[in-house]
Amino acid sequence: MPRPIEALIHADALAHNLARVRAQAPDARIWAVVKANAYGHGLARAFGPLRSADGFALLDLAEAVTLRSLDWRGPILLLEGVFEARDLELCSRLNLWHVLHCEQQIAWLAVHKTQQPHRVFLKMNSGMNRLGFTPTSFRSAWARLNAMPQVDEVSLMTHFADADAPAGIAQQAAAFELATRDLPGERSVSNSAALLRHTEQASDWVRAGIALYGSAPDFPLNDIHHWDLQPAMTLRSRLIGVQQLQPGDSVGYGSSFRAEQPMRIGIVACGYADGYPRHCGSGTPVLVDGRRCVTVGRVSMDMLAVDLSTVPAADLGSEVTLWGRGPNGSLLAIDEVAHAGGTIGYELMCALAARVPVHQA
Ligand SMILES: *Cc1c(COP(=O)(O)O)cnc(C)c1O
Repeated sequence: MPRPIEALIHADALAHNLARVRAQAPDARIWAVVKANAYGHGLARAFGPLRSADGFALLDLAEAVTLRSLDWRGPILLLEGVFEARDLELCSRLNLWHVLHCEQQIAWLAVHKTQQPHRVFLKMNSGMNRLGFTPTSFRSAWARLNAMPQVDEVSLMTHFADADAPAGIAQQAAAFELATRDLPGERSVSNSAALLRHTEQASDWVRAGIALYGSAPDFPLNDIHHWDLQPAMTLRSRLIGVQQLQPGDSVGYGSSFRAEQPMRIGIVACGYADGYPRHCGSGTPVLVDGRRCVTVGRVSMDMLAVDLSTVPAADLGSEVTLWGRGPNGSLLAIDEVAHAGGTIGYELMCALAARVPVHQA
């Protein structure tokens, strides 16, 4: 028997979340953001349930090739554009739309030979200071692109730094609006958090990532129940050991947890080499046979420990849900686990380790 850990990808949840995103902005078109192997869910696996999206947005040219090989003929957007001049040949050949965020990318395109003009998204740095043209240089870039035979339609794009937080998007949205007011072209500004929290900004193309995978972008301000999202990934395993502790006994490396009274603990076949965060200390939520419990002690490479005080019937072989859907309709949001480890749901899903077998559910 293989080690009992596995990840399940829930096609119905992906489809539900996409419908949820669409309902939030019924007039917008939806980019399903599938970078990073569909946030760890598997690009080919996520593609089916998400194929009613209007397009797929990603970073890696190899992932664009995969989508075309799955016979996706609709729009594909390269969110960081091309990384070197010759990538433009692939864009021409596979009809990939691409972001232009710097002068170098425009210069490459200006000398690119193509029969088919490219659909491009010109990116403004409206305050996040990662990628994009400043508001003052944006218009000249737009004008030059418009005059280039290699360019078909130019769309306008920016990305918000604080859409998930109380700070909000007002300043960046105003900077974008001011610099683009009289420019024609479709707009794309919203990620999941902006779509959910600042729906009025949705504009022509929404770029939805994390919401599709069933994580609340603004947890713990709001959770997936608030946004009516469903977890698309379950990580589950089983108890492979049970220990009876006496007061003063410790658990795991560093003896960071000590029992204050007699207690039963379970040892779960899941550790940081499976992608479970080592930063999750004692008290991180976990489901045993669908009942809420907490972890005790440090996460080790292949194992972690749970307090079985509230589940006396649990024993060797009991099902343990690290995140996602548990038995009998139980559920543990990935956001809760991430929060206990001082990180976000995004990081946990993307970090699912290659050694964990993944199944479609
Ligand atoms: C990843 C990404 C998104 C999606 O963000 P979510 O928070 O996952 O919805 C949108 N736009 C850009 C430019 C991105 O890189």
